[in-house]
Amino acid sequence: MLSEFKRGCSSLFILSALVANAAAADTRREIRFPDIPGYKTIVADFHTHTVFSDGLVWPTVRMDEAWREGIDAIAVTDHIEYQPHKKYVSDDHNASYEVALPTAQRKNIMLIKGTEITRDTPPGHFNAVFISDVDPIDTPKFLEAVEAAIDQGGFVFWNHPGWQGPKKGSWKRVHDRLHKKKWLGGIEVLNAENYYPEAHQWCLDKGLAMLGNSDFHAPSMRHHTVTGDHRALTLVFVKEFTQDGVKEALNDARTAAWGQDRMIGRKEHLGPLFDASIQVFPAHFEDRNNLWVEIENSSHLTYKLKRTGDKGPGTITINADARVIVRVENVSGNGDITLEYEAENVLIAPGEAMPVTLTIPR
Ligand SMILES: [Zn+2]
Ligand SMILES: [Zn+2]
Repeated sequence: MLSEFKRGCSSLFILSALVANAAAADTRREIRFPDIPGYKTIVADFHTHTVFSDGLVWPTVRMDEAWREGIDAIAVTDHIEYQPHKKYVSDDHNASYEVALPTAQRKNIMLIKGTEITRDTPPGHFNAVFISDVDPIDTPKFLEAVEAAIDQGGFVFWNHPGWQGPKKGSWKRVHDRLHKKKWLGGIEVLNAENYYPEAHQWCLDKGLAMLGNSDFHAPSMRHHTVTGDHRALTLVFVKEFTQDGVKEALNDARTAAWGQDRMIGRKEHLGPLFDASIQVFPAHFEDRNNLWVEIENSSHLTYKLKRTGDKGPGTITINADARVIVRVENVSGNGDITLEYEAENVLIAPGEAMPVTLTIPR
Protein backbone atom coordinates (compact mmCIF):
# COMPACT_ATOMS: atom_id res chain seq x y z
CA MET A 1 0.00 0.00 0.00
CA LEU A 2 2.66 2.38 1.14
CA SER A 3 4.89 1.70 -1.86
CA GLU A 4 1.95 2.22 -4.20
CA PHE A 5 1.18 5.48 -2.43
CA LYS A 6 4.81 6.51 -2.84
CA ARG A 7 4.76 5.60 -6.50
CA GLY A 8 1.60 7.60 -6.94
CA CYS A 9 3.20 10.59 -5.23
CA SER A 10 6.37 10.45 -7.29
CA SER A 11 4.51 10.16 -10.59
CA LEU A 12 2.29 13.04 -9.48
CA PHE A 13 5.46 14.97 -8.72
CA ILE A 14 6.88 14.21 -12.18
CA LEU A 15 3.58 15.18 -13.82
CA SER A 16 3.39 18.51 -11.98
CA ALA A 17 7.04 19.22 -12.79
CA LEU A 18 6.26 18.60 -16.46
CA VAL A 19 3.24 20.90 -16.33
CA ALA A 20 5.32 23.61 -14.62
CA ASN A 21 8.00 23.22 -17.29
CA ALA A 22 5.48 23.49 -20.09
CA ALA A 23 4.11 26.67 -18.49
CA ALA A 24 7.61 28.17 -18.20
CA ALA A 25 8.35 27.34 -21.84
CA ASP A 26 5.11 29.03 -22.81
CA THR A 27 5.81 32.29 -20.97
CA ARG A 28 6.30 35.39 -23.06
CA ARG A 29 8.38 38.29 -21.84
CA GLU A 30 7.51 41.43 -23.75
CA ILE A 31 10.09 43.57 -25.48
CA ARG A 32 9.41 47.08 -24.24
CA PHE A 33 9.80 49.96 -26.67
CA PRO A 34 7.42 52.90 -26.38
CA ASP A 35 5.30 54.09 -29.28
CA ILE A 36 6.38 57.31 -30.98
CA PRO A 37 4.04 60.17 -31.97
CA GLY A 38 1.71 58.91 -34.71
CA TYR A 39 3.04 55.35 -34.76
CA LYS A 40 2.96 52.15 -32.76
CA THR A 41 6.33 50.46 -32.28
CA ILE A 42 6.42 46.74 -33.07
CA VAL A 43 9.33 44.28 -33.21
CA ALA A 44 9.85 41.89 -36.11
CA ASP A 45 12.25 39.32 -37.55
CA PHE A 46 11.90 39.18 -41.35
CA HIS A 47 14.49 36.46 -42.02
CA THR A 48 14.47 32.91 -40.58
CA HIS A 49 14.93 29.37 -41.90
CA THR A 50 13.49 25.93 -41.16
CA VAL A 51 14.17 22.32 -42.22
CA PHE A 52 12.32 23.14 -45.46
CA SER A 53 15.56 24.77 -46.62
CA ASP A 54 18.86 24.63 -44.69
CA GLY A 55 17.46 25.40 -41.22
CA LEU A 56 17.54 22.91 -38.36
CA VAL A 57 14.08 23.35 -36.81
CA TRP A 58 10.48 22.51 -37.66
CA PRO A 59 8.51 25.66 -38.61
CA THR A 60 6.29 25.61 -35.50
CA VAL A 61 9.42 25.92 -33.33
CA ARG A 62 10.11 29.33 -34.92
CA MET A 63 6.67 30.47 -33.69
CA ASP A 64 7.29 29.15 -30.15
CA GLU A 65 10.63 30.98 -30.06
CA ALA A 66 9.07 34.23 -31.30
CA TRP A 67 6.41 34.01 -28.60
CA ARG A 68 8.91 33.41 -25.80
CA GLU A 69 11.24 36.18 -26.99
CA GLY A 70 8.52 38.84 -27.15
CA ILE A 71 8.53 39.21 -30.95
CA ASP A 72 5.38 40.56 -32.62
CA ALA A 73 5.85 39.56 -36.28
CA ILE A 74 8.03 37.02 -38.05
CA ALA A 75 8.68 35.80 -41.58
CA VAL A 76 9.86 32.29 -42.39
CA THR A 77 12.00 32.75 -45.49
CA ASP A 78 13.30 29.42 -46.69
CA HIS A 79 15.66 29.40 -49.67
CA ILE A 80 14.08 28.61 -53.02
CA GLU A 81 17.29 27.38 -54.61
CA TYR A 82 18.81 25.50 -51.68
CA GLN A 83 16.92 22.63 -50.01
CA PRO A 84 19.56 20.24 -48.61
CA HIS A 85 16.99 18.24 -46.57
CA LYS A 86 14.63 17.51 -49.47
CA LYS A 87 15.40 13.78 -49.39
CA TYR A 88 13.69 13.74 -45.96
CA VAL A 89 11.11 16.56 -46.07
CA SER A 90 8.88 17.92 -48.83
CA ASP A 91 10.42 20.30 -51.36
CA ASP A 92 7.14 22.26 -51.51
CA HIS A 93 8.19 25.93 -51.27
CA ASN A 94 4.99 26.90 -49.44
CA ALA A 95 5.23 24.12 -46.84
CA SER A 96 7.04 25.98 -44.05
CA TYR A 97 4.42 28.76 -44.00
CA GLU A 98 1.53 26.27 -44.05
CA VAL A 99 3.04 24.22 -41.22
CA ALA A 100 3.80 27.30 -39.08
CA LEU A 101 0.49 29.16 -39.55
CA PRO A 102 -1.79 27.29 -37.08
CA THR A 103 0.81 27.70 -34.29
CA ALA A 104 1.31 31.39 -35.18
CA GLN A 105 -2.46 31.93 -34.95
CA ARG A 106 -2.72 30.23 -31.57
CA LYS A 107 0.28 32.19 -30.24
CA ASN A 108 -0.94 35.54 -31.62
CA ILE A 109 2.25 35.96 -33.67
CA MET A 110 1.90 37.76 -37.00
CA LEU A 111 3.30 35.27 -39.54
CA ILE A 112 4.37 36.94 -42.78
CA LYS A 113 4.75 34.71 -45.81
CA GLY A 114 8.20 34.95 -47.35
CA THR A 115 11.04 33.30 -49.19
CA GLU A 116 14.74 33.86 -49.90
CA ILE A 117 15.77 34.30 -53.53
CA THR A 118 19.28 32.89 -53.35
CA ARG A 119 21.69 33.84 -56.15
CA ASP A 120 25.47 34.24 -56.38
CA THR A 121 26.86 37.61 -55.28
CA PRO A 122 26.26 39.85 -57.16
CA PRO A 123 23.29 40.22 -57.11
CA GLY A 124 23.29 38.19 -53.82
CA HIS A 125 20.43 37.01 -51.63
CA PHE A 126 17.06 38.77 -51.45
CA ASN A 127 14.05 38.17 -49.25
CA ALA A 128 10.55 38.59 -50.64
CA VAL A 129 7.96 39.01 -47.86
CA PHE A 130 4.19 39.61 -47.92
CA ILE A 131 3.93 37.25 -50.90
CA SER A 132 1.06 34.82 -51.49
CA ASP A 133 2.72 31.95 -53.38
CA VAL A 134 6.41 31.05 -53.62
CA ASP A 135 6.11 28.85 -56.74
CA PRO A 136 5.91 31.66 -59.37
CA ILE A 137 9.07 33.18 -57.80
CA ASP A 138 10.97 29.95 -58.56
CA THR A 139 12.23 31.06 -61.99
CA PRO A 140 15.74 30.83 -63.51
CA LYS A 141 16.12 34.55 -64.23
CA PHE A 142 16.81 36.68 -61.17
CA LEU A 143 14.92 39.80 -62.28
CA GLU A 144 11.90 37.69 -63.22
CA ALA A 145 11.89 36.16 -59.75
CA VAL A 146 11.87 39.62 -58.15
CA GLU A 147 9.16 40.78 -60.54
CA ALA A 148 7.01 37.76 -59.65
CA ALA A 149 7.29 38.71 -55.96
CA ILE A 150 6.43 42.35 -56.70
CA ASP A 151 3.42 41.23 -58.81
CA GLN A 152 2.08 39.50 -55.69
CA GLY A 153 2.35 42.72 -53.71
CA GLY A 154 5.59 41.55 -52.09
CA PHE A 155 8.22 43.66 -50.38
CA VAL A 156 11.77 42.79 -51.48
CA PHE A 157 14.96 43.54 -49.56
CA TRP A 158 18.65 42.77 -50.04
CA ASN A 159 20.06 40.37 -47.44
CA HIS A 160 23.49 40.53 -45.76
CA PRO A 161 25.04 42.59 -48.61
CA GLY A 162 28.64 42.31 -47.44
CA TRP A 163 28.62 38.61 -46.53
CA GLN A 164 31.25 37.79 -49.17
CA GLY A 165 33.29 40.91 -48.51
CA PRO A 166 32.67 44.60 -49.25
CA LYS A 167 33.90 44.39 -52.86
CA LYS A 168 31.54 41.62 -53.98
CA GLY A 169 28.81 43.16 -51.86
CA SER A 170 29.06 46.69 -53.27
CA TRP A 171 26.16 48.52 -54.92
CA LYS A 172 26.19 47.37 -58.55
CA ARG A 173 24.24 47.97 -61.77
CA VAL A 174 21.77 45.23 -60.93
CA HIS A 175 20.91 47.02 -57.65
CA ASP A 176 20.47 50.25 -59.58
CA ARG A 177 18.04 48.47 -61.89
CA LEU A 178 16.05 47.09 -58.96
CA HIS A 179 16.01 50.53 -57.31
CA LYS A 180 14.94 52.35 -60.50
CA LYS A 181 12.09 49.91 -61.01
CA LYS A 182 11.09 50.53 -57.36
CA TRP A 183 11.43 46.82 -56.69
CA LEU A 184 14.01 47.16 -53.91
CA GLY A 185 12.38 48.29 -50.68
CA GLY A 186 15.13 47.82 -48.13
CA ILE A 187 18.47 46.33 -47.08
CA GLU A 188 19.62 44.36 -44.07
CA VAL A 189 21.98 46.78 -42.34
CA LEU A 190 22.21 44.12 -39.66
CA ASN A 191 22.21 40.36 -40.25
CA ALA A 192 22.78 38.36 -37.05
CA GLU A 193 25.90 39.99 -35.51
CA ASN A 194 27.04 41.73 -38.69
CA TYR A 195 26.52 45.47 -39.27
CA TYR A 196 27.00 46.79 -42.78
CA PRO A 197 27.78 50.54 -42.59
CA GLU A 198 27.79 50.89 -46.41
CA ALA A 199 24.24 49.54 -46.47
CA HIS A 200 23.26 52.03 -43.74
CA GLN A 201 24.43 54.86 -46.03
CA TRP A 202 22.70 53.39 -49.12
CA CYS A 203 19.43 53.27 -47.19
CA LEU A 204 19.82 56.94 -46.18
CA ASP A 205 20.76 58.00 -49.73
CA LYS A 206 18.03 56.03 -51.51
CA GLY A 207 15.20 56.19 -48.97
CA LEU A 208 15.19 52.43 -48.25
CA ALA A 209 14.03 50.60 -45.13
CA MET A 210 16.80 49.45 -42.77
CA LEU A 211 16.31 45.92 -41.52
CA GLY A 212 17.93 43.88 -38.75
CA ASN A 213 17.17 40.16 -38.83
CA SER A 214 18.36 36.96 -37.17
CA ASP A 215 18.74 34.78 -40.31
CA PHE A 216 18.37 31.93 -37.79
CA HIS A 217 19.14 28.44 -39.04
CA ALA A 218 19.74 26.68 -35.70
CA PRO A 219 17.23 26.69 -32.81
CA SER A 220 17.12 29.87 -30.74
CA MET A 221 18.46 29.09 -27.28
CA ARG A 222 17.07 32.24 -25.68
CA HIS A 223 14.03 32.41 -23.45
CA HIS A 224 13.50 36.13 -23.62
CA THR A 225 14.99 39.27 -25.07
CA VAL A 226 17.30 41.50 -23.03
CA THR A 227 19.40 44.39 -24.19
CA GLY A 228 22.88 43.21 -25.11
CA ASP A 229 21.75 39.60 -25.63
CA HIS A 230 19.07 39.05 -28.22
CA ARG A 231 18.60 38.13 -31.86
CA ALA A 232 18.97 40.94 -34.41
CA LEU A 233 15.54 42.53 -34.85
CA THR A 234 13.75 45.24 -36.78
CA LEU A 235 11.68 47.90 -35.02
CA VAL A 236 8.78 48.91 -37.27
CA PHE A 237 6.82 52.11 -36.64
CA VAL A 238 3.32 51.22 -37.88
CA LYS A 239 0.10 53.21 -38.27
CA GLU A 240 -1.76 49.97 -37.53
CA PHE A 241 -0.53 46.52 -36.60
CA THR A 242 -1.90 44.53 -39.54
CA GLN A 243 -0.10 42.83 -42.44
CA ASP A 244 -0.92 45.86 -44.63
CA GLY A 245 0.13 48.22 -41.84
CA VAL A 246 3.55 46.58 -41.47
CA LYS A 247 4.06 46.55 -45.26
CA GLU A 248 3.09 50.24 -45.49
CA ALA A 249 5.66 51.10 -42.80
CA LEU A 250 8.38 49.12 -44.63
CA ASN A 251 7.55 50.87 -47.91
CA ASP A 252 7.79 54.21 -46.08
CA ALA A 253 11.16 53.17 -44.54
CA ARG A 254 9.84 53.62 -40.97
CA THR A 255 12.18 51.06 -39.41
CA ALA A 256 15.28 50.72 -37.27
CA ALA A 257 17.65 47.79 -36.80
CA TRP A 258 18.45 46.64 -33.26
CA GLY A 259 21.52 44.48 -32.65
CA GLN A 260 22.76 43.70 -29.14
CA ASP A 261 23.00 47.14 -27.47
CA ARG A 262 23.15 49.14 -30.70
CA MET A 263 20.33 50.83 -32.60
CA ILE A 264 20.73 51.75 -36.26
CA GLY A 265 18.29 53.95 -38.11
CA ARG A 266 17.18 57.48 -38.91
CA LYS A 267 17.14 60.47 -36.57
CA GLU A 268 13.49 61.19 -37.44
CA HIS A 269 12.47 57.91 -35.76
CA LEU A 270 15.20 57.34 -33.17
CA GLY A 271 14.99 60.89 -31.76
CA PRO A 272 11.28 60.51 -30.87
CA LEU A 273 12.00 56.96 -29.60
CA PHE A 274 14.63 58.36 -27.20
CA ASP A 275 12.28 61.13 -26.03
CA ALA A 276 9.46 58.63 -25.45
CA SER A 277 11.81 56.25 -23.58
CA ILE A 278 13.62 58.66 -21.27
CA GLN A 279 12.06 60.63 -18.43
CA VAL A 280 14.13 63.11 -16.44
CA PHE A 281 12.62 63.86 -13.03
CA PRO A 282 12.99 67.16 -11.16
CA ALA A 283 16.03 67.23 -8.86
CA HIS A 284 15.22 65.34 -5.66
CA PHE A 285 18.13 66.85 -3.72
CA GLU A 286 20.36 69.91 -4.07
CA ASP A 287 23.24 71.33 -2.12
CA ARG A 288 25.22 74.48 -2.78
CA ASN A 289 26.89 73.32 -5.99
CA ASN A 290 25.25 70.06 -7.00
CA LEU A 291 21.92 68.55 -7.74
CA TRP A 292 20.82 64.94 -7.98
CA VAL A 293 18.21 63.72 -10.45
CA GLU A 294 16.66 60.41 -11.36
CA ILE A 295 16.49 59.44 -15.04
CA GLU A 296 14.24 56.58 -16.10
CA ASN A 297 14.55 54.47 -19.25
CA SER A 298 11.32 52.65 -20.09
CA SER A 299 12.73 50.90 -23.16
CA HIS A 300 14.63 47.68 -23.83
CA LEU A 301 17.71 49.57 -25.11
CA THR A 302 20.48 50.65 -22.71
CA TYR A 303 21.46 54.18 -23.73
CA LYS A 304 25.17 55.02 -23.51
CA LEU A 305 25.54 58.80 -23.45
CA LYS A 306 28.67 60.90 -23.92
CA ARG A 307 28.69 64.58 -22.98
CA THR A 308 28.96 67.07 -25.82
CA GLY A 309 27.92 70.17 -23.84
CA ASP A 310 29.42 71.83 -20.76
CA LYS A 311 27.20 70.38 -18.01
CA GLY A 312 26.71 66.92 -16.53
CA PRO A 313 28.97 63.87 -16.04
CA GLY A 314 31.29 62.87 -18.90
CA THR A 315 29.28 59.73 -19.57
CA ILE A 316 25.90 58.43 -18.44
CA THR A 317 24.70 54.85 -18.96
CA ILE A 318 20.93 54.63 -18.63
CA ASN A 319 20.21 50.93 -18.37
CA ALA A 320 17.24 49.35 -20.10
CA ASP A 321 14.06 49.23 -18.00
CA ALA A 322 15.81 51.02 -15.13
CA ARG A 323 16.42 54.30 -13.33
CA VAL A 324 19.78 55.90 -12.65
CA ILE A 325 20.75 58.78 -10.37
CA VAL A 326 22.90 61.48 -11.90
CA ARG A 327 24.77 64.22 -10.03
CA VAL A 328 25.13 67.49 -11.91
CA GLU A 329 27.84 69.86 -10.65
CA ASN A 330 28.10 73.63 -10.75
CA VAL A 331 24.45 74.44 -11.25
CA SER A 332 23.24 77.98 -10.80
CA GLY A 333 20.08 79.94 -11.54
CA ASN A 334 16.50 78.75 -11.41
CA GLY A 335 15.43 77.78 -14.95
CA ASP A 336 15.35 74.31 -16.56
CA ILE A 337 18.80 72.78 -17.00
CA THR A 338 19.63 71.31 -20.38
CA LEU A 339 22.36 68.70 -20.68
CA GLU A 340 23.79 68.06 -24.16
CA TYR A 341 24.91 64.52 -24.99
CA GLU A 342 25.22 62.06 -27.84
CA ALA A 343 23.91 58.49 -27.67
CA GLU A 344 27.02 56.60 -28.70
CA ASN A 345 25.18 53.35 -29.38
CA VAL A 346 22.47 54.96 -31.52
CA LEU A 347 23.79 55.41 -35.06
CA ILE A 348 21.87 57.77 -37.35
CA ALA A 349 24.50 57.39 -40.10
CA PRO A 350 27.68 55.31 -40.33
CA GLY A 351 29.97 56.52 -37.51
CA GLU A 352 27.48 59.21 -36.44
CA ALA A 353 26.04 59.03 -32.92
CA MET A 354 22.65 60.64 -32.32
CA PRO A 355 22.66 63.97 -30.43
CA VAL A 356 20.24 64.07 -27.48
CA THR A 357 19.32 66.50 -24.73
CA LEU A 358 18.28 65.78 -21.15
CA THR A 359 16.19 68.57 -19.66
CA ILE A 360 15.97 68.76 -15.86
CA PRO A 361 12.72 70.57 -15.06
CA ARG A 362 12.95 73.20 -12.32
ZN1 LIG B 1 21.16 34.45 -47.41
ZN1 LIG C 1 18.92 33.38 -45.03
